[in-house]
Amino acid sequence: MDDNEKLIQSVQKKYHDMLDQDVDPYEWGYAWRSELNKGGFRAVDFLMREVVDTGKCVGCAACITICPTDVFDYKDEKPTDTRKDACVFCELCVDVCPVLRPPDKDLLKLLGFKEPVIDEGFGPYNYAVIARSKDKECLERGQDGGVTSKLLIHALENGSINGAVIGDVLPENPQVGIHKLATTAEEILACSGSRYTYSPNTVALREAMENDIKPLAVVGVPCQVDGVRQQQYSSIRLDIAKWYQKNVPLVIGLFCSESFTHEHIALIAEHLKVEPKDIVNVNVKGKVIITLRDGREEIMALKDFHPYARPACLYCLDYAADNSDIGVGGIGLDGWTFVAVRTEKGHEFFQAAVDDDLFEIMPVDSVPKAKSLLIRLSNMKRNKPLPALMPTMQERIEMGNTDVKNFYKDYQPPGKGDNSE
Ligand SMILES: Cc1cc2nc3c(=O)[nH]c(=O)nc-3n(C[C@H](O)[C@H](O)[C@H](O)COP(=O)(O)OP(=O)(O)OC[C@H]3O[C@@H](n4cnc5c(N)ncnc54)[C@H](O)[C@@H]3O)c2cc1C
Ligand code: SF4
Ligand code: SF4
Repeated sequence: MDDNEKLIQSVQKKYHDMLDQDVDPYEWGYAWRSELNKGGFRAVDFLMREVVDTGKCVGCAACITICPTDVFDYKDEKPTDTRKDACVFCELCVDVCPVLRPPDKDLLKLLGFKEPVIDEGFGPYNYAVIARSKDKECLERGQDGGVTSKLLIHALENGSINGAVIGDVLPENPQVGIHKLATTAEEILACSGSRYTYSPNTVALREAMENDIKPLAVVGVPCQVDGVRQQQYSSIRLDIAKWYQKNVPLVIGLFCSESFTHEHIALIAEHLKVEPKDIVNVNVKGKVIITLRDGREEIMALKDFHPYARPACLYCLDYAADNSDIGVGGIGLDGWTFVAVRTEKGHEFFQAAVDDDLFEIMPVDSVPKAKSLLIRLSNMKRNKPLPALMPTMQERIEMGNTDVKNFYKDYQPPGKGDNSE
């Protein structure tokens, strides 16, 4: 066994001892950070064994975009350690992975939440409204009220950002998401709407940094929001982390129960007797509304859709993008976006658009079920053990239960009491 292997195994042992001994999860980071002072270890090996090989990787791409020597590629919604000999032992990849440990406690202070901070169970926020874009094109093409795209376009046009990290699709298949660094209003508009398969938006952060496109806004699902935050506020203050902190003033988080796999979209297409590329939109509104290329809408019951959820989404505890500047969703609404303004920065961007009269706005209480649903769904996702304490994918397969929605109805983590919803 070589020295690197010995170090990896000692870090893994320390990490697992901490998990077994119920140590405060905020201490877990020290299982590898303390090794740094002993000369370092090739952290990429630890990340691959604990997160990727166990099937727990949620695909947020934070390890990829923080790595200063470009060790990783991104393939099949996870990192591959293609050039691991290039690893310089900086340990950034393990430091930023939201599956290995929860975001640091002081993140809440660092993010600059707008005072007074309210917390009703869907993350800290200052105020929330229901809004929709007055711009017809944004409203028509947007998934809900088109608020997200309109906010980005406005920020681009008034110069407060010069680029937006968002999600696009393959031209030949609108259900295959790809990352996009948008620098024009047209590009932002072309990417609006939601894909319910995983879209690796944040891979575009690298392109932005390499081309020095800044300031930047990022749109992402909650796992991606956490990945961005872990990079911005990593305790390992290398230039790459500082770049993200300095140059990403706006992170818009999309509420998210789960995403769906491509195989599952293909099964749904088969069930509907259409090609997967002919599914142009999937929207979840208490039921699942599938829009086909020819304009037809097919409805599926939400519970029939549950088995199609992406298995890795089990390892995610955040519904409402609690660490975003602005959280958005279409929960309980039709043609409107629920907007939760969380931070000072989020307020600056949103208020600037409101001042320019870009949105129709309703109070949240005008649709009471929106907020109550948001609280309920956030709680359902939080009511699970931390991902490090959950069974691996292989263990779930052996248990015969890879169902994301129902796993914690049947499963009781050892010594953790009843976690059922
Ligand atoms: C996988 C997924 C699951 C979701 N689940 C819920 C939910 O359970 N409850 C809820 O209330 N809302 C959910 N949403 C959010 C909702 O679908 C809308 O994105 C949100 O309400 C904003 O609408 P809008 O009209 O303001 O945004 P738009 O103006 O349409 O802009 C949407 C933005 O999202 C980006 N985007 C599209 N697809 C993806 C993707 N797969 N991953 C990351 N970014 C993407 C686009 O590039 C665009 O910038 C989900 C979104 C996704 C992508
Ligand atoms: S969860 Fe994110 S940071 Fe962790 S291994 Fe997967 S892609 Fe990398
Ligand atoms: S459920 Fe979590 S892991 Fe899955 S796509 Fe949504 S935010 Fe990411």
